[in-house]
Amino acid sequence: MTILLSKSGDLAALHAMNADLHCHSTVSDGWLEPVEVVRRAKTNGVDLLALTDHDELGGLALAAAAAAESGVGFVAGVEVSVSFAGETIHIVGLGIDPGNPDLIAGLRQVRAGRDARARRMSEALAAVGIAGALEGAHRFARNPALVSRAHFARHLVASGVMPDVRTVFDHYLVRGKPGFVEHEWASLEEAVGWIVGAGGIAVVAHPARYRLSAADMTRLLDCFVAAGGEAIEVVSGAHSDDEMRRFATVARQRGLLASRASDFHGEKESSVDLGRCNPLPSDLTPVWSRLI
Ligand code: AMP
Ligand code: MN
Ligand code: MN
Ligand code: MN
Repeated sequence: MTILLSKSGDLAALHAMNADLHCHSTVSDGWLEPVEVVRRAKTNGVDLLALTDHDELGGLALAAAAAAESGVGFVAGVEVSVSFAGETIHIVGLGIDPGNPDLIAGLRQVRAGRDARARRMSEALAAVGIAGALEGAHRFARNPALVSRAHFARHLVASGVMPDVRTVFDHYLVRGKPGFVEHEWASLEEAVGWIVGAGGIAVVAHPARYRLSAADMTRLLDCFVAAGGEAIEVVSGAHSDDEMRRFATVARQRGLLASRASDFHGEKESSVDLGRCNPLPSDLTPVWSRLI
């Protein structure tokens, strides 16, 4: 009985922490430098922060140093781009060793593919009369090795093609639209393998955002777990309350650890600020139980 009480007390203390385990800096498609991300997290009362740039580890050292200085708990993270069932899936790695050679080599390979995709996107946009999009996207990409659709979108807004980033995505950058090109990212097994091999916990990012049939979603989760994945973002800046409840049920049914994540990119583009997500349902086991 005492043990049970003390365990539930620990769980309550974990839930009381302000953990935000997914966000971006200028090392990928965020607007803030890694150090500025940490500063904003501190201001917003974040207790435990993971920086999870797309396919890149380059911001982790600076962010970790800034976090240590300002007393914010820090988790080294990454968000890996994956292809599964014809859809792009994002797998977040938490608590990774940024010096792990296989992880570094795998991400380098993903970035090389990303670079080639950016050139094809630019050609596709040129074919519908939008010239110079690659150069334009590069003006918004602080890291030349990491050009994302977000940088293309910002350029198209700045050059007056569309009023805002969301509208650019809807009209140009999603499947079926003129600036979208098919691309093969890492496999699910590779991504989870790199993360687990680097000592990290693999997390399915914003699961409600994928256009998968129910059967493919089941298969995604089966393959993810079979590959060594253990956690899922239940609370995400990209989830509605209904979506949060849906994936809380998935976490319960599959015994997955639950993550809480703003996916903050910047004030102008993110609806949820750092550390301002809803709490996790109190019966779920927070993924950060394994990270602190
Ligand atoms: P990429 O990895 O190059 O395919 O770009 C994906 C990034 O684009 C995401 O991480 C978001 O930052 C951004 N993004 C994707 N879809 C949208 C959307 N509908 N509206 C605004 N930003 C989006
Ligand atoms: Mn992004
Ligand atoms: Mn994502
Ligand atoms: Mn993200």
